[in-house]
Amino acid sequence: MNWFLYIAITLTTFILMEGFTWCLHRYVMHGFGWYLHKDHHEKGPGFFEKNDAYFLIFAIPSWLLIMLGVMYKQYWMISIGAGFTLYGLAYFLVHEVIIHQRIKWFTRSNNTYVRAIRWAHKMHHKHLDKEEGESFGMLWVHKRYWDKVREDKKRNAKQMQVSETAH
Ligand SMILES: [Zn+2]
Ligand SMILES: [Zn+2]
Repeated sequence: MNWFLYIAITLTTFILMEGFTWCLHRYVMHGFGWYLHKDHHEKGPGFFEKNDAYFLIFAIPSWLLIMLGVMYKQYWMISIGAGFTLYGLAYFLVHEVIIHQRIKWFTRSNNTYVRAIRWAHKMHHKHLDKEEGESFGMLWVHKRYWDKVREDKKRNAKQMQVSETAH
């Protein structure tokens, strides 16, 4: 068995999933699937959102691929299923935990990636309706948001210096 090949399939699946998620978010969730995604843009009370149904849409094919792959010894299916699952976990960690803080981990992180992705998604949520929007991706952050956070950090660092020398 060629492990490299299966790892490569898993990684490729993971990367393609980001593109797929972008399209899903842009054209389905902000299209005919808006009725499930709407409550994610109008944060109401309660822990669960209708939007969480999209997790099932990802979970079912991952589970089927892994189960059938194991049953029929089709390792490429397991590899794709593993890619889906890893993407789901990463999505959960980034979108639900880091961005929306449904679980309170990394709340005070000053990491540039964490700040850039929060900013990018904040810009996505700025639009309360389905038509307009920006920043539909999830793990990959557009350069302009990285730049903004880097600029902010630089400006803050400078201000710190100024206030230190003033004392
Ligand atoms: Zn959205
Ligand atoms: Zn969100």
